[in-house]
Amino acid sequence: MTTEVWRAVPGTTWQDRASQMLRDTLTGPRGEPCFVTTDRRWLWRLENILAVDARTGSRLLEVQRDLMEYLRETCEHHMQSYAASGDIGAHQQCTFCNHVIWAGEEAS
Ligand SMILES: [Zn+2]
Repeated sequence: MTTEVWRAVPGTTWQDRASQMLRDTLTGPRGEPCFVTTDRRWLWRLENILAVDARTGSRLLEVQRDLMEYLRETCEHHMQSYAASGDIGAHQQCTFCNHVIWAGEEAS
């Protein structure tokens, strides 16, 4: 027996409309393995959209603020390495929360 899945737009799936980060849940932005769950990726995507589109003083911006705090607090970092360039030293930065670890610092 096949269970029919409800579709918001008949004949399409959410994956058809999703950004690359949601369609490919095993790969990071540079094509590297990345195992951040689809649920977490959706939350980051939602936070990003709210950060850009929510109006100052709105409830949506308050939700974005608290969601960002939660996501940063619970982030399982996916670090990317960057070589020193100009005045910026070698470092690693999380793809999702932007946490930075400078070369020579210990990871936290
Ligand atoms: Zn992170």
